[in-house]
Amino acid sequence: MSVLVYVNSNNGKIAKNAMEAVTYGKKIGNVTVVTNGGADAGALAELGAYGADKVLVDRAFEGTDPQQLTKLVVAAAENVGAETVIFSNDLVGKSVASRVSARMKAGLVAGATGVPAEDGTVKVNVFSGKAFGFVKVNTAKRVISLLPNSFQPENNGGTAAVEEFTSNSGEAGIKVLETKKPEGAIPLPEAELVVSAGRGLKGPENWGMVEELATELGAATACSRPVADIGWRPHHEHVGQTGVAIRPNLYIAAGISGAIQHLAGVNGSKVIVVINTDPEAPFFKAADYGVVGDAFEVLPRLTEAVKKFNA
Ligand code: FAD
Repeated sequence: MSVLVYVNSNNGKIAKNAMEAVTYGKKIGNVTVVTNGGADAGALAELGAYGADKVLVDRAFEGTDPQQLTKLVVAAAENVGAETVIFSNDLVGKSVASRVSARMKAGLVAGATGVPAEDGTVKVNVFSGKAFGFVKVNTAKRVISLLPNSFQPENNGGTAAVEEFTSNSGEAGIKVLETKKPEGAIPLPEAELVVSAGRGLKGPENWGMVEELATELGAATACSRPVADIGWRPHHEHVGQTGVAIRPNLYIAAGISGAIQHLAGVNGSKVIVVINTDPEAPFFKAADYGVVGDAFEVLPRLTEAVKKFNA
């Protein structure tokens, strides 16, 4: 089976979710990757280690304009006769996968967490991760968007052939006026470890202890929605139903009650540690480890323990 995987390589780097998508594609068939922009051929060739046979790169345009990317992916799918097209279910993937599926008249499986079974059934996440479902499309072609962090990348070595590709994707429909990188070394959606805090921290002046623990762990920082709404923390740190959805290996939540809208964005985390003074806080029900205690005492002690471990 011919499989096409779209990979976003626009900042020159290949993100972890791209490796996940390529590994996933390899479980289905022969993988061709399609991308655009200026990533160097060496970095693209390394996708061969995750199962790509070939990488098609259109260098005529940069960026993630959904209309241009739709044309790019559809052209590449025609070029390689792809029966399955795979995206990572991130911000770009979500918006382009649906367009590509409409153009190709292919059924869309959104938020996949499992490899298609022999009969084509795919396990997907539904209701913000509260439940799962099984989806089977009955079109000849299909588009699958893979939930980030639901599939382990497998590096088996090797390189892929990198070929220049012309998709004639036209002008961008969106004009980007300015690009601002979020502060913080580790982008939240890709972070393996996350330290997060909520209104229980009383004010922005107390975030030093959250940042200190995050620095010691090599973690990204996050927050609940009201914290971002009040302006204690930047909006890109807000996780939950209306914020960023994350699935790190470790999520430490201090002073967050665990409202359903918050859980919707974090309940895919592998291990959840909750620190809360209220033993009845709903978050404890979703926690793997719970500390009934004052974040102002627990966070600095955790940081000290990690410092000792790191020494
Ligand atoms: P609170 O609910 O005020 O909880 C603070 C917690 O801190 C309490 O449990 C308290 O016991 C504890 N605490 C207090 N002092 C300490 C201390 N010293 N040490 C340790 N613990 C302490 N919220 C999100 O987070 N993300 C979303 O995406 C989101 N989307 C929403 C969408 C809609 C449509 C709606 C209606 C709401 C949404 N919300 C979202 C808001 C959500 O319902 C909650 O109001 C919010 O998550 C609560 O934030 P919090 O836990 O920081 O604050």
